Amino acid sequence: MKSVKHWINGALADGDPARTAELYNPATGEVSGHVALASAADVDAAVAAAVAAFPAWRDASLTRRAQVLFRFRELMYAHRDELAALISAEHGKVHSDALGEVARGLEVVEFACGIPHLLKGGYSEGVSTRVDSYSIRQPLGVVAGITPFNFPAMVPMWMYPIAIACGNAFVLKPSEKDPSASLLMARLWQEAGLPDGVFSVVQGDKVSVDRLLEHPDVRAVSFVGSTPIAQYVYERGTAHGKRVQALGGAKNHMLVLPDADLDLVADSAVSAGFGSAGERCMAISVVLAVDPIGDELVQKIVERVENLVVGPGDDPASEMGPLVTGPHRDKVASYLDLGVEEGAKLVVDGRETTVLGGGKASETAGFWLGPTVLDHVPAGSRTHTDEIFGPVLSIVRVSSYEEGLKVINDGLYGNGTAIFTNDGGAARRFQNEVEVGMIGINVPIPVPMAFYSFGGWKSSLFGDTHVHGTEGVHFYTRGKVVTSRWLDPSHGGVNLGFPTNG
Ligand code: NAD
Repeated sequence: MKSVKHWINGALADGDPARTAELYNPATGEVSGHVALASAADVDAAVAAAVAAFPAWRDASLTRRAQVLFRFRELMYAHRDELAALISAEHGKVHSDALGEVARGLEVVEFACGIPHLLKGGYSEGVSTRVDSYSIRQPLGVVAGITPFNFPAMVPMWMYPIAIACGNAFVLKPSEKDPSASLLMARLWQEAGLPDGVFSVVQGDKVSVDRLLEHPDVRAVSFVGSTPIAQYVYERGTAHGKRVQALGGAKNHMLVLPDADLDLVADSAVSAGFGSAGERCMAISVVLAVDPIGDELVQKIVERVENLVVGPGDDPASEMGPLVTGPHRDKVASYLDLGVEEGAKLVVDGRETTVLGGGKASETAGFWLGPTVLDHVPAGSRTHTDEIFGPVLSIVRVSSYEEGLKVINDGLYGNGTAIFTNDGGAARRFQNEVEVGMIGINVPIPVPMAFYSFGGWKSSLFGDTHVHGTEGVHFYTRGKVVTSRWLDPSHGGVNLGFPTNG
C-alpha cells in the first residue's frame, strides 16, 4: 500500500493526518494506497515556503534559470519510463500513451529553456532628446496550478516550466486520483538544482483548491479541468484579485466531407476517439458524417474498433486501458442506454468487449468499458452534447457542410475540432467560420506545439490567456516600461577580464 504525501520546501510532508483519499489500480479495481488531502494549514505551509524562496529565484540570472531547466529536462527524459509507469498504475492508460504525455510535456520544458530569449524586452533609443525607453517583464511571485486526472504529467508541465523559468515560485495541486507523478517531478526538480520552495506540491481536493484561491500571497492560478469547476475557479480566484486562466471541458467534433479519404478518416476517428479510453480533452467524441458517406464510414470505423485490444496499461499488447474510477466508468456506461433511448443505434457495445486476461468488460473486475460506437445520434440530444469523457464515439449524420458547421457552433464548448476533406477551399472556410480554439485540417487531435499556446473558446476557457507558448510567458509575468535620461555617460572603471554570465 503506497502513501502519497505532499512536497513542501524540498521535502516530503505528511500534512494533516485527518484527511486522506483512496487510490485505485483501475485495471483491477483494488485499492492501491492512500493520498494525503491537504488542510488549509498545509496549503499555507507550501505558500509560505514559496514566498520565502521567491526573491532569490527571481534574482537568479536568466542563464542560471535556463541551466536548471536543461538539467530538469535531461532528468525527466532519463526517468520517463518510471514516470509513465506511475501514471499508468493510477490513471489506467497504456504505457506507450503515458510516455507520449511525458514527451509532449517535455516539449514545454524545452521551450522554457529558451527563457533568456523569451523575456527579451524592447528598447527605443531617443524617444526624446537623450531619453530612452525600454520594456521589461517580471515574475508575479507565487503562482499555483490546479490540474485534472487525465494528464497527470503533461498538464502540470504546460504550466510550471514556464512559470518557474520566468522566475516565479510554483505550487502544484494535482488531481487526487493520480497524484504520484507530481512527487517524482518534484524530486527531479530538486536534483536539477532548483532551490527548495520554488516548486511545491499540495495533494488535495476542494479544501486545498479553495485555500489557494483565497490565499493573499498567491498571485495567479492556472486551472485545467471540467467546465463547472473551471468557471468556479475563475470566478472565485478573480474575486480575490488573482490572475486566472481556467481551461474547461470539451466535446470535439470531426466534420467529414464526402470527398475525404474514408480510410484515413476511420483510422483518425478511432485513434482520436479511443486513445486513452477517450479521457482526453482533445479526444474526438463526435463524427459529423456529411451525406452520403455515413454508412460506408461507420462500417470502416466498426471494422477497426472490433480489432482494438483492450487490457491493463502495463501489458504491452494493450491499446486501450480501463477508465480512471468505478463511478466514472458507470457514468460513461450510462450513456449507452441513454443514447438508445434518445434514438441512436448502438453499433458497438463496449460492455461486451473482451478484456485481455479477463472476460467481458462488464463482468471483469476493474473499471472496464470497451470502445463503443453509437450511430444516428440525434443532434442536440444529451448523448451528443454532454461531455461523456470516455470511450464512446457518436456519429451524427448531417446533410451538408453548413449543417455540420452549425452543429459545432451551436455547442457549449469550443476546445478542438477537425475537418477531413481534400477540398482546400472548404478547409479554409472552416478554419475561418468555426468557433473553436484549436483546429485540425486532416489532423484529428490538433494539440498545438509548445511554442504555440493551447486553449479553447466558449465554455472551454474562462479568462483570455491560453497556456504555454508566448501566452504562457505573458501570463506568468507583468510588464514595466522604463523611461530614462542620463545627463552624463556613466563610468564603470577598468576591467580587462573576459565578460561572462552570472
Ligand atoms: P475536475 O474538474 O473534476 O478536477 C480538476 C481539478 O479540480 C482537480 O485537481 C480536482 O481536485 C479539483 N476539483 C474537483 N472538484 C472541485 C471542487 N468542487 N472545488 C474545487 N476544486 C475541485 O476534472 P477531472 O475529472 O480531473 O478532469 C477531466 C476534465 O478536465 C474534463 O472535463 C476534461 O475535458 C477537462 N480537461 C480539459 C483540458 C483543457 O485543456 N481544456 C485538458 C485536460 C482535461
